[in-house]
This record gives sequence, C-alpha cells and structure tokens, in this order.
Amino acid sequence: MSVDADRDDRDLEGELASANAGRRGIPVDAICVGCGRTHVKRASPEEMDQHPQVDPTTLEATDCTSFKHVCYRCGGTEWWNPIAVLTGLLEHERGEQE
Ligand SMILES: [Zn+2]
Repeated sequence: MSVDADRDDRDLEGELASANAGRRGIPVDAICVGCGRTHVKRASPEEMDQHPQVDPTTLEATDCTSFKHVCYRCGGTEWWNPIAVLTGLLEHERGEQE
C-alpha cells in the first residue's frame, strides 16, 4: 500500500506522542486539507461521525469523516482527512497501560 511506503521515513509513535497529535482519541494518520501535511492525530469517534463506543480495530479510515484539528503549519484549526486508522499504535498503547 502506498500509505505504508509514505511512512518509511516517519516516526509515527513519536508523532503520536507529540503535543501536536492531541491527548485523547483514536490515533489516525491524517492529511491537512489546508497544507497537505500528513501527521498522526488523535480524534474521537464522534468527531469522525462514528459511534462513541466503536471498536477502533474495526474502523476503516474510509468510513471516517473529516475532523477538525489544529495544524501548526497553517497556524490554526483545519480540517483533516483520515487516511489510516493506526490500530497498531493503539494496541501498543493498551499494552503499556496493562
Ligand atoms: Zn495545515
């Protein structure tokens, strides 16, 4: 998949851990519609028009709607289009909490 190829030079866990990603929600790889930048963001299921209790591992990025999140390159809140649900990072997180 092209999405995986794009990740080769990126530190997804580092992006998720950064303040830019936000603190709560499901980790998703998303693209800013303002500047085209790709960054890991956290978004709640509600923000992506999904059921609040949805199992993130069953989520498909194509089912998720755009959500608003801050973009530091744009200098404000922008719409972000989910391109991948990062369930791998989510499971990693759960593992750390147990
Ligand atoms: Zn932007």
